[in-house]
Amino acid sequence: MASRTEIEVAAEMSANPQCIEALVRREIRELEGYAVPSAGRMIKLDAMENPHRLPADLRRQWLARLSEVAVNRYPDPDCAALKRRLRATFDIPAERDVVLGNGSDELIQMIALLIGGRDRVMLAPTPTFSMYRLISITTGSEFVGVPLAANFEVDGAALLDAIRRHRPACVFLAYPNNPSGNCFDESVIEQVLEQAPGVVVLDEAYFSFCGRSFLSRLNRYPDMMVLRTLSKSGMAGLRLGMLIAHPHWAAQLEKVRLPYNINSLTQCSAEFYLAHHETLQQQAADIVARREQMFARLAERRGVRPYPSAANFILFSLERDADLVHDSLQNLGVLVRNLHRAATPLENCLRVTIGTETENKRFLEALDSSLS
Ligand code: PMP
Repeated sequence: MASRTEIEVAAEMSANPQCIEALVRREIRELEGYAVPSAGRMIKLDAMENPHRLPADLRRQWLARLSEVAVNRYPDPDCAALKRRLRATFDIPAERDVVLGNGSDELIQMIALLIGGRDRVMLAPTPTFSMYRLISITTGSEFVGVPLAANFEVDGAALLDAIRRHRPACVFLAYPNNPSGNCFDESVIEQVLEQAPGVVVLDEAYFSFCGRSFLSRLNRYPDMMVLRTLSKSGMAGLRLGMLIAHPHWAAQLEKVRLPYNINSLTQCSAEFYLAHHETLQQQAADIVARREQMFARLAERRGVRPYPSAANFILFSLERDADLVHDSLQNLGVLVRNLHRAATPLENCLRVTIGTETENKRFLEALDSSLS
C-alpha cells in the first residue's frame, strides 16, 4: 500500500475543538451556513439566475473588451465609469451616492459592520432572505424576525410594534420578498420609514421583474437605503450589487468597504452589459411572461398551491412531503430550492426559478412524475 503523504495525514487530523470553542463565538458555532448545492448537470432552477445569455455577437464584442483590460493593475477603486453607467441606466437621483459591493450580499455585510454589533438589533419580517440573519449574527448583532401574516403578507401592527420595542439599528425589507415573491403593502413600508429609529434598507433585488421601486422616495427619507443587484438580470457571475444612499451614509459605508472590492473584469463586463440594457430588459420581460404561465400551470395541478410573485421565481406549497418531492425532482435532473421547515409557514414549500421555455416544461413534467 502506498504510504500516505504528509498532506493526507494533516487533512485527517481534526482541528483542536477546544481552540474553536474558545475562539469562535457560540452564535457562529451554532449557525448553519448558507448552503449552495452543486447543480452538476441538472436543470438549475434554484438560484434566481437569468437563464438567458447575451446573443453570440455581443458576447464576441464583450470578449474583445475584456482582452483590453489591464489585469496587471489594480482596478479603479472608485469604479467611476461603471457608476456613471449605473446612474444613467437606473435613473439614480443626482443627490444620492452609489456604493458598490461584490454582490448585494457584501453591501448587506457592510451595513451590518457599520451600524451593527453588540446590543444592536437588525430586524426583518420573516421568512425572508436568509443572509440578513446570517450576516447580522456573524457581525455581532442580534437578529429579530417578525413573522409575516397568512399568505406572506406583512403584518403591519406586529412589525411596527417590534420596531418600537427593539429600536433596531436596521430594518431589512426585501421588495419583492424572497422566498414568497410578493411586494409588501406600500402603506406599511411608509409607516416603517416614518417610525423606524435607524436605517431602513429596501432590498430591490428583483426590481427588473416587478418595476416597483422606492428609489424616488429617497429624498424624503435620508436614512433609507435602496439595494439593487445585477445578479438576477443576467450577471450573477460578475457579483455586482449597488447601494443608493444619502452621501453622509455613503461616506461612512466607504470606510468599511474593502479597497478594490469590484475587480476590473467585473467593472468592464458590467459596463458592457449595461450598454446593452435593452437586451436585458427584453429577457426580463420574457421571464415575467413565463412566470405568469408557470403560475397558471402550477395552479391547475391538484395538491399544488403557488403564491403570486412579482419576482423571477414562484414559491409553492404541496400537500405532499416536500423533501420527497424535492429529492424526486433532483433524481429527474431538476434542481429547485427546498424551503420546507416543519411547523412553519414554509412547511412543504419549494421555490422554482423561472427558466427558459424548455426548462420550465421539463420542470413541470418532472413535478408531475414526482406527484403521481
Ligand atoms: N437580496 C435578496 C432579496 C436576494 O434574494 C438575494 C439573492 N438571493 C440577494 C439580495 C443577494 O444577491 P447578490 O449577492 O447576488 O447580489
